[in-house]
Amino acid sequence: MNQKIAIIGGGAAGLMAAITAAGLGGDVTIYEHNSSVGKKILASGNGRCNIINTTATADDYFGTNPGFASYALEHLPFSDFIHFCHSIGLLLDIKDDGRCYPLSNEAKSVLYAFSSAAKIAGVNILTEKKVTMLSKNKESFIIHTDNEKKSYDKVLIATGSEAAPQLGASDDGYRFASSFGHKIIATYPSLVQLHLNSKIHHKMAGVKTFAEVTLYVNNKEVEKVQGDILFASYGISGLAILDISQKASLALLNHQIVMLSINLLPRFNMQELSDIFHQLITAVPNHTLETVLGGLVPAKTIAYLCEAAVINPAKTVSMLTLKEIAKLTQLIRNWKFEVNGTHGFKHAEVSGGGVATKDINAKTMESKLINGLYFAGEVLDIVGKRGGYNFNFAWASGMIAGKEMGK
Ligand SMILES: Cc1cc2nc3c(=O)[nH]c(=O)nc-3n(C[C@H](O)[C@H](O)[C@H](O)COP(=O)(O)OP(=O)(O)OC[C@H]3O[C@@H](n4cnc5c(N)ncnc54)[C@H](O)[C@@H]3O)c2cc1C
Repeated sequence: MNQKIAIIGGGAAGLMAAITAAGLGGDVTIYEHNSSVGKKILASGNGRCNIINTTATADDYFGTNPGFASYALEHLPFSDFIHFCHSIGLLLDIKDDGRCYPLSNEAKSVLYAFSSAAKIAGVNILTEKKVTMLSKNKESFIIHTDNEKKSYDKVLIATGSEAAPQLGASDDGYRFASSFGHKIIATYPSLVQLHLNSKIHHKMAGVKTFAEVTLYVNNKEVEKVQGDILFASYGISGLAILDISQKASLALLNHQIVMLSINLLPRFNMQELSDIFHQLITAVPNHTLETVLGGLVPAKTIAYLCEAAVINPAKTVSMLTLKEIAKLTQLIRNWKFEVNGTHGFKHAEVSGGGVATKDINAKTMESKLINGLYFAGEVLDIVGKRGGYNFNFAWASGMIAGKEMGK
């Protein structure tokens, strides 16, 4: 007899699981509380959808046990994923660094391909249907919505995380899981902008530059990345900041001291920068410090660099002491800011924490506590780096759950 399967959440994991289970003969219903499925797919990658990363391994993930992701990633290697995409009419553009986008360069085509494949496979997609409660009697699971209750043999919780509530994100999955005895690891925003405890960041709002950012937690260096940074009224954003945000946000959750060091000119080492300064002083001895710095760093940062170095920006460069030059070069390469928060779930791309993986079978995605209850995607305590890794785990874990439920 066909398995009656309910999937809560029509995102990446839910759609992949639905197509897979229905393909095996399962009688599949997706419950989605948004007016349409896949809202995050549409919004992803700035509307382009960085759909997967060809190089993903468990090392690209964080969580209490990131190794949990290994089986899923090995189960759906990139060669199989591309084959699957072809089978649903989706062609991919593979970049040199392993990121992949739809060939159309539009996230829309990913959603069309997945939602059409689900419909063709016979999946019953219910939109504007919020699951309010999940319960179980002896024979079956019961999905509760506002106006009805329906019974199913198997249920997949694929409700994602709390990140980006404006796209339908909810903490419902955690609620459903804990009602069945599952432990929830504290959640925190990741791939998110950071708030700074400084009196100057808002005055530099709009400054965008390439920098090296070093993250310190309790005074210990934990990560160093290069990329764009952007000062903002609330603090700092940019790709380099998103890349260090998982460790920063987790440290804040654990009440640790979080500092950033910004190197505004990472292409030069200390000696080279010092040499450049001295060459400039020789070339233009009568110029002001402000003018000379203007050739090196963004204009809006100069007043605050000089303030931090306690040097008057109107000073003629030939009058700078060796100590002052050393202080400035050090500051340009190591400008410290205290991080005192994140920009929150509303602005985060993903969430760390979630349903504890110790109670889930990594090979089936089934609960070890409740037979017939499955989990996939971001609702689990697995979060990836930026670069297609989060969808990667959602597709892979969704496919495993779909295969198991459809059996
Ligand atoms: C702006 C943005 C850009 C991103 N870009 C990328 C990218 O380029 N590459 C990448 O890898 N990752 C990206 N991500 C992350 C990626 O979107 C998620 O990791 C991925 O969508 C997780 O898939 P999921 O199926 O687990 O959850 P989701 O896609 O969030 O799906 C969960 C679904 O469950 C529904 N739901 C929740 N509660 C209920 C309920 N009670 N009843 C019914 N339905 C419910 C939600 O509406 C949602 O549709 C981005 C995220 C954001 C916010």
